[in-house]
Amino acid sequence: MRENGMSETSAEKAPSIKEVRINELAEKASVCVACDLSEHRTNVVFGEGNPNSPLIIVGEGPGENEDKTGRPFVGRAGKLLDDCLKDCGMLRRHVYITNVVRCRPTETDETGRVKNRPPRTDEANTCISLWLEPTLTTIDPLVILCLGSPAANAIIKKGFKIMQDRGKFFDTKYARYAIAGLHPAYILRQQGEAYDEARESLVKDIEAARLKVIEAKKEPPKSLF
Ligand code: URA
Repeated sequence: MRENGMSETSAEKAPSIKEVRINELAEKASVCVACDLSEHRTNVVFGEGNPNSPLIIVGEGPGENEDKTGRPFVGRAGKLLDDCLKDCGMLRRHVYITNVVRCRPTETDETGRVKNRPPRTDEANTCISLWLEPTLTTIDPLVILCLGSPAANAIIKKGFKIMQDRGKFFDTKYARYAIAGLHPAYILRQQGEAYDEARESLVKDIEAARLKVIEAKKEPPKSLF
């Protein structure tokens, strides 16, 4: 066990059942054509990190860099997320990171430029039932940290008000506790003091999630069966 309360997988150890199952799911998802997003993607971005972690972070969906590399949160928003995790003494290998949708949602503007867009409800619902739910059931985390409204809507409740309800713990069928924080891409759009405050709030919410994991590990199981 590390000082930050998170355990790590050792490179020499045989993969755990969770790792094997997550790899199998990722393999199946890599050829998914269940929704229109598959038509424009370069790579399916399944998730990354430690499938044995008690803490899962769920974002919205891949952007351009993630689509190119097949890895979640590798652009500017990802760098900010990594920095905020570091402020809480954590690295990617201490958590598992995934998204509501696994393929980049795009639209083309009047000038022909391909831009990111939020996932549509039908795209999100398809990806949630095919890939997010099995991921969460396999990893069976103690705490889920949702980044932004689409993740909070999928995991905590429909109509989640991110500004009002971020930083609070909620029940969810997917874990003992769920909490939502501001999405790093939203934070990057703020300036000056507003940026500092938004970044600070994300660090606070990550730290709250980390401390909740430590607390939840000491609680008795919720049910005997
Ligand atoms: N934004 C997200 O929500 N997810 C990513 O993987 C990257 C950016």
